[in-house]
Amino acid sequence: MTPKSPSAAAHATVYGYPRQGPNRELKKAIEGYWKGRVSAASLQRTAQNLRRSNWQQLAAAGIHEVPTGDFSFYDHVLDTSVTVGAIPDRHRAAVETDALAGYFAMARGTQDVAPLEMTKWFDTNYHYMVPELGPDTVFTADSSQQVAELREALALGLAARPVLVGPVTYLLLAKPAPGVAADFEPLTLLDRLLPVYAELLADLRAAGAEWVQLDEPALVQDRTPAELNAAERTYRDLGALTDRPKILIASYFDRLGEALPVLAKAPVDGLALDFTDAAAANLEALAASGGLAGKRLVAGVVDGRNIWVNDMEKSLATLGTLLGFADRVDVAASCSLLHVPLDAAAERDIEPQVLRWLSFARQKTAEVVTLAKGLAQGTGAIAGELAANRADLASRAASPITRDPAVRARVAAITDSDGRRSKPYAERAEAQRARLGLPLLPTTTIGSFPQTTELRTARADLRTGRLDTAGYEERIKSEIQEVITFQEKTGVDVLVHGEPERNDMVQYFAEQLTGYLATQHGWVQSYGTRYVRPPILAGDIARPVPMTVRWTAYAQSLASKPVKGMLTGPVTMLAWSFVRDDQPLGDTARQVALALRDEVGDLEAAGTSVIQVDEPALRETLPLRAADHAAYLAWATESFRLSTSGVQDATQIHTHMCYAEFGDIVQAIDDLDADVISLEAARSHMQVARELAAHGYPREAGPGVYDIHSPRVPGTAEVTALLRKGLEAIPAQRLWVNPDCGLKTRGWSETRSSLENLVAAARTIRSEL
Ligand code: GLN
Ligand code: ZN
Repeated sequence: MTPKSPSAAAHATVYGYPRQGPNRELKKAIEGYWKGRVSAASLQRTAQNLRRSNWQQLAAAGIHEVPTGDFSFYDHVLDTSVTVGAIPDRHRAAVETDALAGYFAMARGTQDVAPLEMTKWFDTNYHYMVPELGPDTVFTADSSQQVAELREALALGLAARPVLVGPVTYLLLAKPAPGVAADFEPLTLLDRLLPVYAELLADLRAAGAEWVQLDEPALVQDRTPAELNAAERTYRDLGALTDRPKILIASYFDRLGEALPVLAKAPVDGLALDFTDAAAANLEALAASGGLAGKRLVAGVVDGRNIWVNDMEKSLATLGTLLGFADRVDVAASCSLLHVPLDAAAERDIEPQVLRWLSFARQKTAEVVTLAKGLAQGTGAIAGELAANRADLASRAASPITRDPAVRARVAAITDSDGRRSKPYAERAEAQRARLGLPLLPTTTIGSFPQTTELRTARADLRTGRLDTAGYEERIKSEIQEVITFQEKTGVDVLVHGEPERNDMVQYFAEQLTGYLATQHGWVQSYGTRYVRPPILAGDIARPVPMTVRWTAYAQSLASKPVKGMLTGPVTMLAWSFVRDDQPLGDTARQVALALRDEVGDLEAAGTSVIQVDEPALRETLPLRAADHAAYLAWATESFRLSTSGVQDATQIHTHMCYAEFGDIVQAIDDLDADVISLEAARSHMQVARELAAHGYPREAGPGVYDIHSPRVPGTAEVTALLRKGLEAIPAQRLWVNPDCGLKTRGWSETRSSLENLVAAARTIRSEL
């Protein structure tokens, strides 16, 4: 495919790069600083070296304009709060005494002062610190960090473009500060914020910026006319400034929709759009809107948040079409490369052929450069790269890893009845009551018990060979014994084995399913210095042998009460992995669901009477635009039912959700057709119980009565009061008593006391019924 007419100016750029360094040097330096082992000066030096080496690598790879200001010690939204002076009052003194220590206090809190709240950055697994604003917020520009980083890059002789969170997105991501009315709308502060951005732009221009990028991903979500108006006003005002660099407005993660004409008409100099499949509608919308005459278009054709090699011919075709729409077309990854690991070449355990299908930040950078070259000079200039790319794509498409005929045949044979329990809930509930003989307000936990240092050390020792498998399994068994003994003694009604054998609720299963790849170095920032290594859904998914049965059966052999089987559901398995981009998500989910269905069946056959399939990610994976919700929820709920519907009436299926508010997906929760659901609720005083009731949710539910995010032990009276609140919404016959989530991050002593209080509270209420 040859572009219509080569664009001599086509440049290659990216919006951001992984921050951690090849060996997570940044994490080590920051954590060393927290412990007092690394000085502030040394931390700053580490950061500067990492930035410099990133820019030099980008430039050496052929990137024409490197991003600056994308680096962060913790989070770029927190950095923006510092840049615009939105420091919460409770942190101000600390920040004024020591800017760096104060910065980390905002991020992590101190003994006496709470941190900012943290939440997910759109539908990624990156978390940002939520700005706290109120009617009294006074913004002041502090461009020092942005200017310093720009100067560092310019000093290397590079063309550099500062990247900032745009004013509209910044306000839309903020929440009312503590003590401010809950209905306060941060967007009402726009007029106060814009002069501060004007000042930042002027400072950056004075420091040598030709272009500045303002990121406005919030505009790919459904926005009200008032919000679109605010965007229009913002860029009219910033565009009208005389002392400013050229402005590039960047959008990513989805289509711009009704915001596209607003930004296309804005008096700014460039627009960056996502042109990956997830935002395919941008292409037609751009054509329909008449294009971006007089503007620079930055085309995000390389998926910045997944790890697959780009389809270069397809990208070139898109770029070729775009040449007709703008004055200048540049090539980029669709979003910051922060969301992918650094370098696929660091992986030693992945088959060389499969490794060629993968593209991490370094490989994506090369793809962007190649595409820009192809766009500028014609495809002849990149013939070698194109041939290699074609070969990689063909090898992936034809591989037995991605096409397992047995898996495909099984998915094709799925019928409606596979996703349906044989009896309606009411009849099953009766059979389960007869089988389980539980008291009213049965007590249970969500699955994990404290993951002690000894457990983690044992796992590390197993990896390094210091402990053999038999020795490791003995440790796991003795841990299970302790967990069972404690629960029996305390009087918990439905027991768990405690999940001591699991490193992580997704990774544990991924390691045992064929079709999943694990990486050695594929770290991605989740928040602050916490990095995760998401497994990769690379091929067709099958479960060669049972994954959990022996541990659950062992636990049951020690117990007089039922022990719950514990699995991670298909939606969560997808949400916390890198997913295939060569088939619909629903197809991948169905494959995972069938593997889980086999595990559920084996647990049941081994005598397990209660099986929990966790779906904490059900809400967070909801698409950014409401128009896409129904299609997502259809495959999500179907795959859950597919994994759980093969059991007998008397086998009780539980599910669990957390990390979100669920008010808007109660119908989907109902559609899961689980017999029992446990949900996070302690901090919201059982809000979710009222939401379930308002919907007429007919099944059993355990709104959490113990906030497991803190070491605090809830007293019996407090739990009793929460249960009474729960009873106002859910009748005693259908109310369960459980914590908000698993106990893996808690210590044993607080876990013991908290669960004793929880059982005592349940007994108090039972005695009154
Ligand atoms: N069963 C898991 C646990 O208890 C659930 C974790 C979660 O919901 N995040 O740890
Ligand atoms: Zn949970």
